[in-house]
Amino acid sequence: MAVSELYVCDGCGGDVVLVHAEEWTPGAAGEILPYPGHGPVGGLANRLWCPECCAVRAHAFVRLDPPADHAVVAYAEAQRLGCDGTESGPCPVCAAPLTWELDGCACPACAGGTLRFTGEWEDAV
Ligand SMILES: [Zn+2]
Ligand SMILES: [Zn+2]
Repeated sequence: MAVSELYVCDGCGGDVVLVHAEEWTPGAAGEILPYPGHGPVGGLANRLWCPECCAVRAHAFVRLDPPADHAVVAYAEAQRLGCDGTESGPCPVCAAPLTWELDGCACPACAGGTLRFTGEWEDAV
């Protein structure tokens, strides 16, 4: 069950969404792609903020090898590994540490705006 956090800019109204524990599906080159709801599940990923790129980046904290047929396998593996969906890691693009601390950060889309935590919701699998 992925949990999403919404941050909204107090300047331009633009928004950024961070996601805890989202299923992903492996792309042809091993990319972490959004799970379309069917097909192979590569594992679970968090989508966190990269302060260097000023962008949301995926961090896969569960990798199933081989990929599973059902999302439930990924959640069982996360439980076995003791993961709770707050895992972080290096940005896959620039290697800076990814962060959940987005509240109060400068908006990437406008000058002078600040991102504010606005709410969160849970997605059904
Ligand atoms: Zn803004
Ligand atoms: Zn980065």
